[in-house]
Amino acid sequence: TANSIGFIGLGQMGFKMAQNLYNKADASLIIYDINKSATQDFISLNKTSATVKSIDIAGSPVDVVRKASVVITMLPSSTHVEDVYLGKDGLVHGVDKESLLIDSSTIHQSVSKEVAHKLTGKGATMVDAPVSGGIVGAEAATLTFMVGALSESDFHRAKPILSHMGKNIVHCGTIGTGQIAKMCNNMLLAISMIGVSEAMNLGIQLGMDPKLLASILNTSSGRCWSSDTYNPCPGIMPNVPSSRDYEGGFGNTLMAKDLRLAVSAASDARVTILLGAVAQQLYNQLANTAEYAKKDFSSIYKWLSKSKGK
Ligand code: NAD
Repeated sequence: TANSIGFIGLGQMGFKMAQNLYNKADASLIIYDINKSATQDFISLNKTSATVKSIDIAGSPVDVVRKASVVITMLPSSTHVEDVYLGKDGLVHGVDKESLLIDSSTIHQSVSKEVAHKLTGKGATMVDAPVSGGIVGAEAATLTFMVGALSESDFHRAKPILSHMGKNIVHCGTIGTGQIAKMCNNMLLAISMIGVSEAMNLGIQLGMDPKLLASILNTSSGRCWSSDTYNPCPGIMPNVPSSRDYEGGFGNTLMAKDLRLAVSAASDARVTILLGAVAQQLYNQLANTAEYAKKDFSSIYKWLSKSKGK
């Protein structure tokens, strides 16, 4: 129905985004996740809320879109998006001309285009809207949404819904451009994090005081977000993952996945990315090491500082 919104994928990000949507939008929710405890937890958390807005659990993606004209998806990667949109019980089997599908997962831009092509072929509207801002931004509804939409009017249909979950809603261009913006940002973030880690580690190993070195970098031309907001060296800043043994934050596995997207897109388009490719190798290594896989991506500093030769 018109005043129902569907949400598929209530994981680390989706759960908090769906909560903001439920709190702020004038609509009931239809939720779905293959992990049944995720949807159950969402219901339990909201069962005492004194509102007429309902929350229903759907049996499949197609069931969601049959009950809600707007559906948001927040899934791990390209294969999950293909499954939820184009699989046996996929969204594609239930859409009509009223349907608006918003995919906020970070996936391959070519998959975003392929899925959108199949959906628009049935008269539905689809936008890609990956996010930056992490779990903290998802909870505080301060996410940035990078939106790829076929037209200005498609973008303006999605914007008020996304505004319940984020602060900056940016139209990047046609379908797939949201993914391109997100991927380029994360590639640069990985490269700058490795750079800050190398500089901090070299200076400290040569005898510099860590805090003094960080403060010099942060007032000099090497300054960047990885040095002045998210410093990877323990003890420089409170409340960042490096000061709690790299717990929480943005995991090495997710960073490795985003870098694979960049390397693959660059290879397809025959664009040279030297440092992006090295960053991918490094983060693949961390993602494949049990000690590091689930740690924050700033743990590259720990990895470097432990790999000193004798
Ligand atoms: P997550 O793994 O915690 O959540 C994904 C959810 O999707 C899970 O609940 C899972 O059960 C569900 N799911 C998987 N396959 C499904 C299917 N076929 N049908 C229905 N549900 C299914 O992941 P997350 O951390 O919430 O990230 C989601 C996306 O957002 C990823 O693409 C990630 O790269 C991106 N992202 C994450 C962060 C972050 O800090 N975690 C930040 C920005 C962007």
